[in-house]
Amino acid sequence: MTRTALVLGAGMVGVSCALALQKRGIIVTLIDRKVPGRETSYGNAGVLATSSILPLNNPALYAKITGYLGNRHPALNLSWRRALSRPGWLLRFLWEARPSRAAAHIAALQALTASTVARHRALMTEAGVAHRLRENGTLKLWRTEAGHAAAQGEHDFLRRHGIDSQVLDRQGISALEPSLNPIFPAGLLIPSVGSVDSPGAVTAAYAALFAERGGRIEQAEIAGLARQGAGWRANTTKSAFEADIAVVALGPWSGDLLKPLGLDPWLDVERGYHRHLKPQPGSSLSRPVYDADGAYYMAPMEQGYRITSGVDLSFRDAPDAHRQIDSVTAAAREAFPLGGVVGDTWRGARPTLPDSLPMIGEAPRNSGLWLAFGNQHIGFSTGPITGEMIAAMVCGETPPVDPTPFRPGRYIS
Ligand SMILES: Cc1cc2nc3c(=O)[nH]c(=O)nc-3n(C[C@H](O)[C@H](O)[C@H](O)COP(=O)(O)OP(=O)(O)OC[C@H]3O[C@@H](n4cnc5c(N)ncnc54)[C@H](O)[C@@H]3O)c2cc1C
Repeated sequence: MTRTALVLGAGMVGVSCALALQKRGIIVTLIDRKVPGRETSYGNAGVLATSSILPLNNPALYAKITGYLGNRHPALNLSWRRALSRPGWLLRFLWEARPSRAAAHIAALQALTASTVARHRALMTEAGVAHRLRENGTLKLWRTEAGHAAAQGEHDFLRRHGIDSQVLDRQGISALEPSLNPIFPAGLLIPSVGSVDSPGAVTAAYAALFAERGGRIEQAEIAGLARQGAGWRANTTKSAFEADIAVVALGPWSGDLLKPLGLDPWLDVERGYHRHLKPQPGSSLSRPVYDADGAYYMAPMEQGYRITSGVDLSFRDAPDAHRQIDSVTAAAREAFPLGGVVGDTWRGARPTLPDSLPMIGEAPRNSGLWLAFGNQHIGFSTGPITGEMIAAMVCGETPPVDPTPFRPGRYIS
């Protein structure tokens, strides 16, 4: 008998799960309150991060943390009210940065990210949006002479993990990106990293591919999830939807539906912002650049040059705090000839678990309830592999990546 599935959430992770389940002959209904790809999967920097294998909470965080605590550095905005409302999460996040955890985290993230560009290339081709893919790397930049050692250190680290990169001096940076102002003495080109010019449009194109292949997309607010016989029922503002299995891929909102079931995934969020600016006439970038001292990405997008901010550790639904995005916009103007602002400032929330690894697998004590969220800073990149892993496990196949580090049972008992 043909199996059925509900995929809850149509961001990059949910859409990828829907496509991968559909490929295996499962009849899938994809549900989101918005049209696909309008939340976190819309506003990110569009970097296909094959080299983001070191989580934010790595051993170097301990040395940096005091410099961040006064909320003067653009890399971090910390709401003490939020931190004190849930001290356990922050303590676990810091505890996971200890050196003894680093090797396991790096190995897990490398397994997850290694096939990012290849998987997106294949999907973008099938979805007819291959023109949105750039395969010319990312450029990390440093503003001081100390950047030479930092670039070399990162190059050595990546080489130990089989990832190529190229250390650049001021001339090398100018040769690659002539429009950048010459304020960066050191840089690192990572050629295997890809990028797209509109993550929202790519997510929407994958959803359109799913619909073209017979998938059903429902736009409705999901109010609750419950067992229904041997399967699952999602209650929505439209009607109830039932299926053999349910996949929770609600990104930063995933905990909202799970907690009423007695499942606390220890999910929290690292908020972030973006703003688009026009380039000055005659100036252009051919790839995303990351200003390591300024703590922002500047990525060429369809809408303009997208500047993305660092981490805002505030309550998920608290009002915007524009200190970081204002500060990095000013820093980006020092780096590149930018003109006027295009549109409004956007805010999103990276869904993050204390160990910076996503949750990919079946929920403990709840057969047929699959969890696919918590992809933190790299969820646009790792959506497709997350979807393939879920679909393989649902069908009893061996997933393409060892799921052990991502098992829900590490937080949900
Ligand atoms: C500033 C910033 C920059 C980033 N840069 C990058 C990058 O360069 N590369 C990268 O790989 N990643 C990046 N990320 C991270 C990446 O964007 C996320 O990890 C990823 O988009 C998460 O995808 P998702 O599908 O899990 O969540 P989402 O895209 O948020 O999807 C969740 C969906 O669930 C729906 N939903 C939630 N609750 C309900 C409900 N009750 N009923 C119905 N629908 C509901 C929402 O409408 C939404 O569409 C960045 C994030 C930020 C904030």
